[in-house]
Amino acid sequence: MDQYDVVIVGSGPAGMGAAFTLREKKPGIKILMLDREKVSTGGMRNDCKMNFTYPIGFPVEYWTEEAAEHYLKQVIDFLKPTFLEKNNIDIYQKRAERLGCSLLEIKQTHLGTDGGLKLIKELLARLSELGIDLALGEAMETVNAEKQFIVTEKREIGYKRLLIAPGRKGFQFLQDMMRILDVPFIDNIVDIGVRIETRIEHYPIVRDYYDPKFYFPEKVRTFCTNSGNAHVVRERYATNRGDQWYSVNGHAFAPDNKHDNGLVNFALLKTVRFTAPLASGQAFAENLGLQAALMGGGHPLMQRVGDFRLGSRSKEASFSGDLYDFEPSLRTCCPGDISLAIPAKILRAIWKAMKNLDTIVPGVLHPSTIMYYPEIKLYANKPAYQDERFRVKEDIWFAGDGAGTSRGITGAWASGIRSAEGILDTL
Ligand SMILES: Cc1cc2nc3c(=O)[nH]c(=O)nc-3n(C[C@H](O)[C@H](O)[C@H](O)COP(=O)(O)OP(=O)(O)OC[C@H]3O[C@@H](n4cnc5c(N)ncnc54)[C@H](O)[C@@H]3O)c2cc1C
Repeated sequence: MDQYDVVIVGSGPAGMGAAFTLREKKPGIKILMLDREKVSTGGMRNDCKMNFTYPIGFPVEYWTEEAAEHYLKQVIDFLKPTFLEKNNIDIYQKRAERLGCSLLEIKQTHLGTDGGLKLIKELLARLSELGIDLALGEAMETVNAEKQFIVTEKREIGYKRLLIAPGRKGFQFLQDMMRILDVPFIDNIVDIGVRIETRIEHYPIVRDYYDPKFYFPEKVRTFCTNSGNAHVVRERYATNRGDQWYSVNGHAFAPDNKHDNGLVNFALLKTVRFTAPLASGQAFAENLGLQAALMGGGHPLMQRVGDFRLGSRSKEASFSGDLYDFEPSLRTCCPGDISLAIPAKILRAIWKAMKNLDTIVPGVLHPSTIMYYPEIKLYANKPAYQDERFRVKEDIWFAGDGAGTSRGITGAWASGIRSAEGILDTL
C-alpha cells in the first residue's frame, strides 16, 4: 500500500491552501493530493472572482474578523491579486441605506473561467515541482480511520494525517464520511433563491463594482455576480435514491470585448434556518429541486419579469424577439411560472429584495429580465469540530465549502491554511 504523511482529498482552493502551507512549513514530508476530476470543479474553475474582505466567504461562526484578516493576508501574499477598481460606491450605499438595505464594499479580483483554468494549471504544476504527488481523476470512496488508510476506486492509500476538502459538490460524500467516522453534524441551514439575468444596461452598477454585495431585509443577499461574457449554467445533483435535479449558477469569461454578450447574471439568495422537527436543510432543498425539475420536465425553470408581474407563466414565445430582446444564456431551461415552485415566504422576500434593488439600481426589473429557479447552495454541513483548526478526529481534518468552513475561494484557501497548521502541530 502507498504510504503518505498527509493525504489531501480535493484540489480546490482549500486543498491548495493546505498543500502549499504544508510543503512550505515542513519540506520533507510526503504529501499526496487527489481529486476525482482532472481539474478541480469549484469556483476557481468557474468565473474565479475572488473576494478579499471579511465577512464575504467567511462564515462568522468559525471566523472572527481578526482571524480572517490574518489568513487573508497570507492568501493575498501568495496569489498576489490585482484588485478591481470601484466607483460611485457611496451613491449606491446611500440609496441602499435609505431603504433599510446595505452595500458592502469588498476588495475583488476577477480572472474569469478561462483565467481560473490557467491559474489552476499553474498551481498544479507548482505543486508537482515542489514534490507533491498528484492523483487527478481518482476519487476517494471511503476511509478506515482505525487503520489509517483511504480507499479509492483504484487502490488503498495509507496516511498519517488526512484532510478532506471535497467542496460543495462533495456535500453528499462528506455526509457519508461523517456517518462512517461518527462525526456529529448539523445540517439546518440552506440558501435558496433565483438567478437573475439581464442586459448590463439594466444593471449598470457592474461597470462600477464587479460583484456588488447587497444585503436586504429577511436574510436576502446578492451573490456571485458575473458580467461581460457571462453565462448562466446548471449543476446536476442526485439524491440518495438517484433522482436528478438541477441548480442554476453563473460564470463569466475574462473580459474580452470581442466575445462579450452584454449580459449580467447574479443570484438573489435567502438564507433559511430550520428548527425541529425538520433537521435537514439538504432534504428540504432537495425536495424543492425535485419539485422544480418535475415542473420543468427535468430542467430548471425560467420566467421573464414581465410575465411574472402579470401572474402568467412564461412560454417559449417569451424568449424570442419583440420586447423580450435578449436570448437566455442557458437554453436548457423550461419556460414556466416560478411562483408555483417557490415557497411563498422565500418568494415574497426575494421579490421585495428585487424591488429594493430596482430602486437602488433602476432598471433591473425590466420586463425582459429573466429569473431562473432554483439556485440552491448546499453548504450547510456543520460538523462538530474538535478545535478551531477544523479537526474532526485524531488524525482527520475537514475544510472548505462542503464542510461549512468557507463560502468562497479565498475563505476556502484560508481554511486550508488553517487546517494545515492544525496538521503541522501534530506531525
Ligand atoms: C459554478 C460555480 C461558480 C462559482 N464561482 C465562484 C466565484 O467566482 N468565486 C468564489 O469565491 N466562489 C465561487 N464558487 C464557490 C466555490 O466553488 C467555492 O467557494 C470554492 O471553490 C470552495 O473551495 P473548496 O476547496 O472547498 O472546494 P472545491 O473548489 O469545490 O474543490 C473540491 C474538489 O474536491 C473534489 N472532490 C470531491 N469529492 C471528491 C472525492 N470523493 N474524491 C476526490 N476528490 C473529490 C472535487 O472534484 C473538487 O475539485 C463557485 C461555485 C460554482 C459551483
